[in-house]
Amino acid sequence: MLEVMITSGTSFDGYDIIEYGPYQFSQEILSSNFLKELGSSMADIVTDRSSVYHEKLDGAMNEAIKSFKDMVSKTKYNAVIGFQTNVVDYSANITSVVASGTLVSIVKEYQSEFKKSDFIRNEVYVHNYYDKLVPRAVKIVLASEGSGTKISAWFNNYNMDDIKAIKADIEFVNIYGDVTTLTGVDFVFDKPNLSLIKSDYTECKLPEKYIKMISASKVYIVKYVTSRGVFSCGDDPIDIDLSPAKFKALKMKKGLDAVENYKSDGLVWTCNCGHVNEGGAEECIICGRKQDEMKKNISFNYEPMVAEMQEKEFVIEIKDVLMKYIKDIDSNLRMQLLEIMESGIQYEKTRGNMKDTVIEKVENLFLGL
Ligand SMILES: [Zn+2]
Repeated sequence: MLEVMITSGTSFDGYDIIEYGPYQFSQEILSSNFLKELGSSMADIVTDRSSVYHEKLDGAMNEAIKSFKDMVSKTKYNAVIGFQTNVVDYSANITSVVASGTLVSIVKEYQSEFKKSDFIRNEVYVHNYYDKLVPRAVKIVLASEGSGTKISAWFNNYNMDDIKAIKADIEFVNIYGDVTTLTGVDFVFDKPNLSLIKSDYTECKLPEKYIKMISASKVYIVKYVTSRGVFSCGDDPIDIDLSPAKFKALKMKKGLDAVENYKSDGLVWTCNCGHVNEGGAEECIICGRKQDEMKKNISFNYEPMVAEMQEKEFVIEIKDVLMKYIKDIDSNLRMQLLEIMESGIQYEKTRGNMKDTVIEKVENLFLGL
């Protein structure tokens, strides 16, 4: 039996995800005496009982991870993405550790001779998208082994279409902010009907010395070919307007195709893929993400707390603000928030002020990033 691989991220280095399975969870109920023995509530764990609490919790988390892996090994899947553990208080004396994640099948990535050789390489995210069920350009790879620049493009294939080729104009922005456009680049695909398709490398006119200077790209699809015919994308694509840090966090946590944070006003909801769906729709009509899985059931209004944290100077004071609110915060986030504070306080002893980092982590947690 092969070891089940798990990650809290969305991919494994050196492996391709070839199939996405269901979202699953398992839980370990801690002895109902667990908290009684400690005489503790969540707010007390900063006291000297903390180490006993952590020891018990570590044990329960390891059990939860082990039983999750056992459960996966009995399915046809061999890996888990988006894996996380949460501590849930059901009542004053029942606490459980919940492990959850999406089951996937992975295989070792195909490594061409070109890829293995010694060369310059740069990968950039694509900063625009079509809000349609068409191939979604997510990443551009530029590389050279000393005899001209080559280019490859990665596309999300939402429809699992048999995509044979895509012709596109590629716009590059370099670190000085200058724009260069390559027109009519033909991308062809070896393994066309996966959910993420990576084109073969093709020659491109960009000078080798520019490879490392490129910082972003946009892709304008001219046309694409499937076994059903030749298609175009119609309207102009939408530009993405997110800070580089948020954009990267979104890609890491929500998938390479993600361009927006989930949000809902009850009538309509915006999917991570950018599509705005009817409130009643359970899953996105473009990418198939389920609304329930994107929803973070967070009831706590965190903005006033964060504003109060901004007024402080050191993490130790920011933690005091957190402790004031902690009883009102959704219980599945409390442990993670306390961990952010503890590691912030530790780092602050040796590396200087951690205020901004800690506050950004708190915000990202509430945003689900
Ligand atoms: Zn979607």
